[in-house]
Amino acid sequence: MKTKISILGSTGSIGRQALEVIDKLRDKFEIIALTGGANVELLNKQIAKYKPKYAYASSLKDIKGADVLSIEEICANKENDIILVAVSGKIGLIPTITAIKNGINVALANKETLVMAGDIVMELARQHKVDIIPVDSEHCAIHQCIKDVNQVEKLIITASGGPFLRKTIEEMKHATVEEALAHPRWDMGKKITVDSATLMNKGLEVIEAHHLFGMSYDDIEVVIHPQSIIHSAIEYVDGSVIAQIGLPSMHIPIQYAITYPERFSGIKSKSFSFSEIARLDFEKPDISKFRTLQIAYECGRKAGSFPICMNAANEEAVFAFLDGKIKLFDIINIVEKMLESHKHIKTPTIEEIFEIDNEVRSKVKELL
Ligand code: MG
Repeated sequence: MKTKISILGSTGSIGRQALEVIDKLRDKFEIIALTGGANVELLNKQIAKYKPKYAYASSLKDIKGADVLSIEEICANKENDIILVAVSGKIGLIPTITAIKNGINVALANKETLVMAGDIVMELARQHKVDIIPVDSEHCAIHQCIKDVNQVEKLIITASGGPFLRKTIEEMKHATVEEALAHPRWDMGKKITVDSATLMNKGLEVIEAHHLFGMSYDDIEVVIHPQSIIHSAIEYVDGSVIAQIGLPSMHIPIQYAITYPERFSGIKSKSFSFSEIARLDFEKPDISKFRTLQIAYECGRKAGSFPICMNAANEEAVFAFLDGKIKLFDIINIVEKMLESHKHIKTPTIEEIFEIDNEVRSKVKELL
């Protein structure tokens, strides 16, 4: 039996890599729908090759070779066994909720879903008995290590440290967009690469991990590991540490998430060799240089609408940085400023989540 899958964001970085994974497992998957953003040309090429029944593009025009459905309709289609949510930003939230409410498993590559609405999403997943399988390499690693979450003492999330790990604060202050986008280990979209440079990405991942695995913030630790070979680890109550190790390639967590609980050789290109890796280094994150990590922990602990405010302020500021309007450290200053004036809502509804998000974004734009 083939797994019936839809990919939201098939023209993006994760979506394209997911299709490369499926290329190696063509007899295992049937693609129900593909969706893209502005790049309809690439989407049409994918439709011609993978022949999904349905497609959607945000431009809504010129889709050839598949019936056009809305993202809502695609996510409510119970033909799907699993939906890979690989869009970036807040547009991932409603489709994820729709899939869950229709009892469809979700391979989640969208950070905002859990950062903005982790409590709501995880509760719905429990109610509808739906699996949320993380695609993010760190959470995928933890998912692979955990058998019984009640026996886990702490989660250890690794971070490569990004391009500024060995730079001074002064050097970071004058960083160019090109320098921020030159990630030493991972090839990813621009927004997430800037987040990796400020370590905000790790902060978002801490909040995601809290929701996915139900661990308290006191029991989630971040460690810098520049080689990105250990993708994350867990410590059990008896002191045993289980880590997931592998070469840094997003293909592997994507394949794990869409084939779970089975495993196939699929896209694996070479076998892992400890002797070739030779050494693994670890250090504590430099909090004075990467304030974002502390900010994220604080927002996570305060919960409610704080992570929504942080996420929205950060994303708008990152876009402004990519546009050359502000400097790298201004991103962090803007996030702090927005949080200072934030009016907390303890348990925001989905409507309120989007209201807060919009409000913070317009405030950041005014500030700029
Ligand atoms: Mg990650």
